[in-house]
Amino acid sequence: MNNTETTPTAPAKPKLATDIFESEPCSRCWGSGTYSYCQAYGTRCFKCAGRSVQLTKHGQKNYSAWRAAVDAITLKSVADLTVGCSAKLDGMTKYYEVAAISEVHPGRVGHGDGNGGTIWLPAVTVTFTRPVPVTTVFGVHKQTEFEVTLPSEASKGSEVRIHPGNDLMPQAEAFVTAPPVKRTRKPKESAA
Ligand SMILES: [Zn+2]
Repeated sequence: MNNTETTPTAPAKPKLATDIFESEPCSRCWGSGTYSYCQAYGTRCFKCAGRSVQLTKHGQKNYSAWRAAVDAITLKSVADLTVGCSAKLDGMTKYYEVAAISEVHPGRVGHGDGNGGTIWLPAVTVTFTRPVPVTTVFGVHKQTEFEVTLPSEASKGSEVRIHPGNDLMPQAEAFVTAPPVKRTRKPKESAA
């Protein structure tokens, strides 16, 4: 027998929330994943993104508890960034290793003040060890340098996420609880 000829294991796909938390067929497409054609989405159901499932109320509750635990441990401010840490900035889908952090540039990043003017905010340039794909209205491009605004009077600064290491990252599976027991009404006893 040749043990090497077992079924090849597919590379592990990142799990979706609906793979982990309690889910049910999508209420918009009734689990088909498709809906009437529209310009933006074709026939793909946009509620479930064609996945045909959605979280139940209970699943959503567990999911929210996990997200809150992740936020509590990963959400940091720009001042917490260090070279070598794994960070995720706005618009990034994964964590990337920080290669360098520049000195503070005062008035580097312009923000509209809501009255047609511009407020200039202090920022640092964060460089990652490898290019990060960024989705813009022009499509996806890759860049290694990002301007990250610091807290100031005009702004609370950019939110950054710092990965605490796998041992400290809350695992989604740990937040799955048993769904509440459905109460069934006892059938009325018929008067004899
Ligand atoms: Zn759907």
